[in-house]
Amino acid sequence: MRDLTLRKICLVLGMTLLLNGDSFCNGEKLLLEKVIKSNAEWKKILTPKQYHVAREKGTERAFSGEYHDHKGQGIYQCAACGNELFSSKTKFDSGTGWPSFWASVSEDKVREEKDNSFFMKRTEVLCNRCDAHLGHLFEDGPAPTHLRYCINSVILKFVEKKEQK
Ligand code: FE
Repeated sequence: MRDLTLRKICLVLGMTLLLNGDSFCNGEKLLLEKVIKSNAEWKKILTPKQYHVAREKGTERAFSGEYHDHKGQGIYQCAACGNELFSSKTKFDSGTGWPSFWASVSEDKVREEKDNSFFMKRTEVLCNRCDAHLGHLFEDGPAPTHLRYCINSVILKFVEKKEQK
């Protein structure tokens, strides 16, 4: 009898997960459908510098990129897949030589992963759509979040939108 009750609970839980999974796939998350390409395909699409940053987790030289001192109003997209990543509203001058933001456009646009390379404990920031490496996340940014998304210019594409601030 007890086994039966347990089995019923498992069945209900299983169904709930299944249904939620379904709505996850059919809902607005569909907009973030993954862009998956082979390294050979990315090499055809990206410049060598973009490929090095996006697919080999490289870092451009500080102050060498197009956007570290860029002040336009608009959206910074992923240069690899067009995903809208950061707004000029959250851009600030960090003095580091890399474009810096205190927030992403929304939580589902970027993904964060632990990065223990080069004997450092850092948080890597990736495009959640195409998995391009974008830069790193630090906790020394300005209010209101006190976060600093330190992003390579070369993997961003700025699109002007006048209503942005
Ligand atoms: Fe992307």
